Amino acid sequence: MGGPGVTATAAFVERLRAIVGPAGLLTDPADTAPYLADWRGRYRGEAEAVVRPASTAEVAAVVAACAQAGVAVVPQGGNTGLCGGSVPVGGLRQIVLSLSRMNRIRELDAANNTLTVEAGCVLQSIQEAARDADRLFPLSLGAEGSCQIGGNLSTNAGGEAVLRYGNARDLVLGLEVVLPDGRVWEGLRGLRKDNTGYDLKQLFIGAEGTLGVVTAAVLKLFPRPTATATAFLGVSDPATAVALLSVLRSAVGDRLTGFELMSRLCLELVLRHVPDTADPLREAHPWYVLVELSDSGDSADLAERLMDALAPAMERGQVRDAVLAQSEAQGESLWRLRDSMAEAQKAEGISIKHDVSVPVSRMARFIDEASRALERAFPGVRIVAFGHIGDGNVHYNVSFADPAQNAALIEDSEPVNRVVYEVVAALSGSISAEHGLGQLKREEIRRYKTPLELELMRAIKRALDPQNLMNPGKVI
Ligand code: FAD
Ligand code: ZN
Repeated sequence: MGGPGVTATAAFVERLRAIVGPAGLLTDPADTAPYLADWRGRYRGEAEAVVRPASTAEVAAVVAACAQAGVAVVPQGGNTGLCGGSVPVGGLRQIVLSLSRMNRIRELDAANNTLTVEAGCVLQSIQEAARDADRLFPLSLGAEGSCQIGGNLSTNAGGEAVLRYGNARDLVLGLEVVLPDGRVWEGLRGLRKDNTGYDLKQLFIGAEGTLGVVTAAVLKLFPRPTATATAFLGVSDPATAVALLSVLRSAVGDRLTGFELMSRLCLELVLRHVPDTADPLREAHPWYVLVELSDSGDSADLAERLMDALAPAMERGQVRDAVLAQSEAQGESLWRLRDSMAEAQKAEGISIKHDVSVPVSRMARFIDEASRALERAFPGVRIVAFGHIGDGNVHYNVSFADPAQNAALIEDSEPVNRVVYEVVAALSGSISAEHGLGQLKREEIRRYKTPLELELMRAIKRALDPQNLMNPGKVI
């Protein structure tokens, strides 16, 4: 018998109950089920309990009890991750440690432009707290109504404002972390300058819960823009979109906040499946770019600035057609075309998804070469490509239009992945731009990191988590 004795489990669960109280412990399968499956419904695991501590001290006591009993810990935030990182893998004694009750904003320091928050704060509530203080917390993504800042930091989330403000990693000044042995690292400093050796917080950011449990963070706030200008452009190909990115950056600098690409097929899927959407341009174009500027000052001035910046490109024919949002509502409806991509794709059926990045200068080459190689290997294949082209990040999803043909493709996605990832590797890109590795790409990454990189990653893991109890079976 490989599993734990019934009494060992029962005694352990009682120990956890003594730490977190009845409100912090779930064992009834009806209660634990949502914590044991991932957002896509692709991964499901088992756990001895779902533990929901309400304070850092409780997290520390729970983790220490697990370390003593040899039980693994799977940290979980909003459970919106797309790589299966937040649910248990099979064959081990483990608990899910949900941070959702740790959702207090601890401190706003307006003069320092920082907000100290607990890991279980939902991203949207942090954006709102910043807005209430007339500040901006710029991290913004489709799952913001349910993902938590602890999850955002642990996956180094990207999203739609990276071009200007960077990834989650760039938005953090300090962290509080419960280490795998239950000790608490108190690194909640609000310093923009601190050159006192290794930057320890960066180890935990993007670690997907494999090095410790993030319990709180000091986040950077920014001035809240008062003006936005949004435009939807028709272009002939991704190379033109990349050229346009350079033109706009030179013309408007840091005001360029968003620069998103989508193909005609993407727009068609949205128009077909998402109610109350309409093609903003008169004619069809092969590719589209959604551009957003933001600034202090007045929206009308900013709109004029955007039109001035685009005018030469329109004369040259780089921009085939353009619509500029005339109101906030119109700007939102343009963004809705982009933000509905996931929903529209889901309605169309299953596809093989890739979240990849290459240097922006090679973005057009990636799309071109990957698409040709796939077309050669799988004639008639359908590619849904869209994403944060300003960051060199594209969501590159592969399927057939015909569901019957699709089932076989999905069943055997390995050859498709190989084609895509080999092009990514040849262009010095990354096989996971913003979603992480989790369980999904745990094996895949061994092909694409160098032996030295893997050795260093394993050395860090061993140094912090010698018992391998922190989110085992993920990342490495
Ligand atoms: P979870 O899914 O709960 O966990 C993710 C990983 O972090 C797991 O490995 C988990 O163990 C670990 N973890 C969670 N909390 C902690 C903690 N406190 N301490 C240590 N480890 C922890 N991602 C992007 O980057 N950009 C996007 O634009 C984007 N859009 C999305 C749109 C939709 C509709 C959906 C469903 C997802 C999207 N995602 C996107 C993916 C996902 O939302 C992000 O990865 C998000 O950061 C995950 O946060 P979470 O709280 O749900 O984390
Ligand atoms: Zn994305």
